[in-house]
Amino acid sequence: MASLFDVTRDDLATLLDGEPVFRLTQLWDGLYANLQEPDDILTLPKALRERLATALPSALDLTTTSVSDSGDTVKFLWSLRDGGHPIETVLMHYRDRATVCVSTQAGCAMACGFCATGQAGFTRQLSVGEIVEQVVRAAHASKAKGQRLANVVFMGMGEPLANEPAVWGAVERIHGDLGLSARHLTISTVGIIPGIRTLAERPLPVNLAVSLHAARNDLRDELVPINKRYPIDDLVAACNDYLTAKNRRISFEWAMIDGVNDQPRDARELAALVHRLKPSAHVNLIPLNPTPGWPTTGTPKARITEFAKRLEDLHVNVTVRRNRGTDIDAACGQLAAGQPVRIQSRRSTATI
Ligand code: SAH
Repeated sequence: MASLFDVTRDDLATLLDGEPVFRLTQLWDGLYANLQEPDDILTLPKALRERLATALPSALDLTTTSVSDSGDTVKFLWSLRDGGHPIETVLMHYRDRATVCVSTQAGCAMACGFCATGQAGFTRQLSVGEIVEQVVRAAHASKAKGQRLANVVFMGMGEPLANEPAVWGAVERIHGDLGLSARHLTISTVGIIPGIRTLAERPLPVNLAVSLHAARNDLRDELVPINKRYPIDDLVAACNDYLTAKNRRISFEWAMIDGVNDQPRDARELAALVHRLKPSAHVNLIPLNPTPGWPTTGTPKARITEFAKRLEDLHVNVTVRRNRGTDIDAACGQLAAGQPVRIQSRRSTATI
């Protein structure tokens, strides 16, 4: 059965067949403008609200809400009505706006060793409605704090381009129905080339972030195993085609792993790769967040600054991401929704 946010306005019109036409506007505005649950849309008669609740249940049941010590990061743990492993969504408050980080799969099959979601493995794809509902519920929570939800990043659990049709369906709904501009939507990928090519043919110019982490194949094969299928040169070509199609800048994510990808050689290789993109890419350095299944530690702060400086000297546009919500396991790579992780063996990590 479809869930509340799987259906389009036309589907709702069909469901409301026989009701006065203004009911559709009331329902639509309640859901998408006022971010209300159907039962709270008091302009609708009670009998209709009850019918809607049965016909179109929500997809997500809130299990817990965690708030970081600073109060500006909130993590929601949801169970899925249709089963599958629970998922998480992270809402980040900034001074004048909020950003939500949504999951696109329950788990992830990409198996990046340093990522808690990857350590836990894949359960199933999320539907359009399950993705859109994360955004609506976060927008509602944000509104309750007096803040507008301005950005959506597809950087939660899962690999968005391994579930591209549902992700694109969600992008269209978030853009068309919730009214966020494509420039405020960012899809992050591990580098699934067919997905990047499909995205290049889609009509809206969403931002693309690529989780690079290494600029030479032997190291990237270790850190991001899908690199064996989609190696760096092919990835660069796909990124350049995306840039040509969309006229947007791409950003590269680079988690700083102590002694692994933070050496002068790594900076040189990264800079060379960045300049192969036209226009050149932006680099986001991410201090490595601890995850239970990965023994390697993050690069110390001073050396991250040094690495950033080295990149700047090589004319790379670089920022260091401030990690938020590490205390509630809500930062990059920490989302696992309580899944047990497979501990990496020391031997396999010793090779990197
Ligand atoms: N699968 C997609 C979406 C996840 S985005 C992708 O890989 O891009 C999550 C980002 O956090 C990715 O850039 C990922 O590589 C990064 N990440 C994963 N584990 C991390 C960790 N332990 N510390 C910092 N960043 C991490």
